[in-house]
Amino acid sequence: MKPELSVVPGLLNRDEVVYCHGQRFRVLISEEDVLTRVAELGRRISEDYQGRKPILIGVLNGAFIFVADLMRELSVECEIDFLKLSSYGAAKVSSGQVHELKRIDADIHGRHVIVVEDIIDTGHSMRFILESLKHYEPASLAVATFLHKSEATVIDLELAYVGFVIPNHFVIGYGLDFGQLGRNLRAIYIEDPEP
Ligand code: 5GP
Ligand code: MG
Repeated sequence: MKPELSVVPGLLNRDEVVYCHGQRFRVLISEEDVLTRVAELGRRISEDYQGRKPILIGVLNGAFIFVADLMRELSVECEIDFLKLSSYGAAKVSSGQVHELKRIDADIHGRHVIVVEDIIDTGHSMRFILESLKHYEPASLAVATFLHKSEATVIDLELAYVGFVIPNHFVIGYGLDFGQLGRNLRAIYIEDPEP
């Protein structure tokens, strides 16, 4: 019988291959590459927002780790808030149907807003987020997404900061889940059918 998640106790979130709900995943982007890239994005954002005080809007749940790491790479004053959308549930394919489960608390009128997402797939979620945030009339509105499945994206979006463009396959780790598991993995893992 396959274990719920991974195999070696203690190495749980550092293995090359892990099992999540009995499905096999392998490392796509190593922990080291993840952190290097986040630091690069942080430097670029810090340069671009010199003299401003951006507010990061993290998209729950998936972006919580990325936004935490990214924020610590920023050398400008910055604030944070969160919103939450309906998710895939346990499915691995986007439904295209999006609704808001938690709104932002901050007043972003006249603010420099950076929406921080874990992954852009079809782009429906991000379009929905940008449309709803525009109503508050922020001074500027930019997107930072850690991953982008560019082949799957059907919505025309301006993505100012992208960590990695990845193939159109399901991934977990670094905040991204499969049926709520796998978020604690330090690398990005891609589905990998049994050899
Ligand atoms: P979109 O609306 O762009 O199709 O989907 C965006 C949301 O779907 C992401 O914020 C993420 O929560 C979820 N998602 C898309 N692709 C993946 C994936 O490969 N793995 C996981 N865990 N979630 C994904
Ligand atoms: Mg997300």
